[in-house]
Amino acid sequence: MSHSILIIYTGGTIGMKTNPETGALAPFNFDQIETEVPELKKFGIGIDTLTFSPLIDSSNITPDEWIRMATVIKEHYYKYDGFVVLHGTDTMSYSASALSFMVQNLDKPVIFTGSQIPIGVPRTDGKENLITSVEIAAAKGSDGKPLVPEVCVYFENHLFRGNRTSKYSADHFNAFRSYNYPPLAEAGIDIKYNLPYIRKMDAFLPSFDITTELSPYVAVLKLYPGISRTIVRGILANPEVKGVVMETFGSGNAPMYEWFLDEIREAIKRGVIILNTTQCSVGTVNMEIYDTGKALKSIGVVSGGDMTVEAAITKMMYLLGKNLDKEQLIHQLSAPIRGEMTHPGI
Ligand code: ASP
Repeated sequence: MSHSILIIYTGGTIGMKTNPETGALAPFNFDQIETEVPELKKFGIGIDTLTFSPLIDSSNITPDEWIRMATVIKEHYYKYDGFVVLHGTDTMSYSASALSFMVQNLDKPVIFTGSQIPIGVPRTDGKENLITSVEIAAAKGSDGKPLVPEVCVYFENHLFRGNRTSKYSADHFNAFRSYNYPPLAEAGIDIKYNLPYIRKMDAFLPSFDITTELSPYVAVLKLYPGISRTIVRGILANPEVKGVVMETFGSGNAPMYEWFLDEIREAIKRGVIILNTTQCSVGTVNMEIYDTGKALKSIGVVSGGDMTVEAAITKMMYLLGKNLDKEQLIHQLSAPIRGEMTHPGI
């Protein structure tokens, strides 16, 4: 059976080439993708493209675009074997994380990719990223099932679980990292799939669906030595804020000044959910190691374990959008629901 892939081009550097008249970079018409990247024809895979209009620099991405991406995937879900989402690199990890929560019962690959140099420029990294993403999106095991039924980021020879990634370099081709989870595949001469780390599908999966309700009332509070009470209060006491991702030190530690704990206590009493993530790239929050962590836990701060900030923010938007009761919300926030954390948060 021949394979078919839908490429969804949302914007970003990858889809550009030099306009010969002006010399400036401009998006090219993706309907002609096989003219631009003739290598794609050699796979014998049916490739269709769908281009967002207008194209979006990924710094302008909002939850509305995530809803569009999820809706496009839902509308075309049964027609294609897999999806490749071309996206600017700047916020790709946020979008891949958001989509991982918004899709339920996914049993096909959704591969985000992009590039640091446009596809129409000779030294582009975009061609390899696109070609390998298409190959991965179409890859099936001997049982005929997709090899990677997950929302992923593919970049510079590595396939990562999308909600584990962060953009770490503004310059290098190797621009993404998954600090707390191994790559799902590495592309060298062959593409080597890291099967034990790829999500297994349930034998009887209910039908695919998406959620389009995302709460915009999520704030981030990044701690630093010397942060003032007015700054902390400005975020926590904002009446719009329903959830706060608090970026703490080391294994989830925060200052123990009385005023700081009072502000947190007050916010939690008003119903604000505070999720603890660490500023360290590698490792996990564990609020049981130091007094500075225990103090947070005892007043009701929720542990985000080893989640990235990108995953924590988008997971909070997703869960707050579901209008769960408080106990359910806290339970789902601190436990893995899409492989975004290694263990339930402590
Ligand atoms: N500013 C661009 C974007 O994120 C950069 C890129 O595509 O890499 O849309």
